Amino acid sequence: MINGPIETSPSGTITDDTPCPICGYNMRGLSEPNCPECGSRFTWNEIFDPTRRIHSYLFEHHPERNIHSFVRTFLGALRPTRFWKSLHPNQPLCVRRLWLYFLLILIPTIGFPIVFTLGSEVALKIVDNMEKREDFKLRHASGRLDRFDLMILRRYPSVDAYLDKSLPTNPATVSQRVMEHNRSLLQAVCTLGAVTFAPIFTLIVFLIFKSTLSKARLNGNHIVRTVAYNSGILFIMGPIVGACSYLFPDRFRYSVNIDYDLLMLVGVAALLIFSASLLIASVRYLRFNRAFAVAFSTQVVVYLIVGNIWLIAEIWGR
Ligand SMILES: [Zn+2]
Repeated sequence: MINGPIETSPSGTITDDTPCPICGYNMRGLSEPNCPECGSRFTWNEIFDPTRRIHSYLFEHHPERNIHSFVRTFLGALRPTRFWKSLHPNQPLCVRRLWLYFLLILIPTIGFPIVFTLGSEVALKIVDNMEKREDFKLRHASGRLDRFDLMILRRYPSVDAYLDKSLPTNPATVSQRVMEHNRSLLQAVCTLGAVTFAPIFTLIVFLIFKSTLSKARLNGNHIVRTVAYNSGILFIMGPIVGACSYLFPDRFRYSVNIDYDLLMLVGVAALLIFSASLLIASVRYLRFNRAFAVAFSTQVVVYLIVGNIWLIAEIWGR
């Protein structure tokens, strides 16, 4: 980077077959390290310097220390300006490990709203039902059931059959009942869930937009890279929401103990940081023509999708 850019190119022209890292166009014979096909601009160092081929800590490049490289990549990507300067498109793509990283971030991120809202509610309900069952059995054994209980009990083959029906402890049955009777809970799942799906929405919209970018045969894996490494911000949204539910409890609106407005506020903040980081990556990493404009448009579409889900959840939750 600091060296004069032309110095590392022997003759000032590219003499060997050199594919453009973004679109694969052969840059042989060019006197500037700029791709005429997709418009990406590079420095000579990025194209030729072999010491810069492997990233110092990226998860894709370091299978020999998986946990270390995962954590370093996750933390590194939280500082997008520095991160997207350190990673460049000419560094080899390891598609399998890239997707592995993406999934390792996405699965807990998407799973969080379900576990946090629905899971905690179901767990509480099961514990509550178990206590009530014990109490009922005790009263039944000691002959302290009232006439009403005895009358209902007569319709069932056994006490357990009655209790399974009225006070279930089977997680599937309890989940179903909680969902049927607690719309605001589902609304919370949708509100948080829409945000956690932002990387998937972004990726899909980006790939659709990419396919319309006329002649440039952009390698879609570079787009996966920008989305995957920027998803860490949504991953940390989970613990933030969890912490807020203890710091700012609101038992009135949700049994999951969190203010609905706060939930949306955290969601909007996470989305804005995700978008900002994606825009930085579009300039620093995806250098093809109008990369910033394309990235910006994807975020507009993603906000519309998330906004619509929130609106539907809001109307439906009433
Ligand atoms: Zn190119």
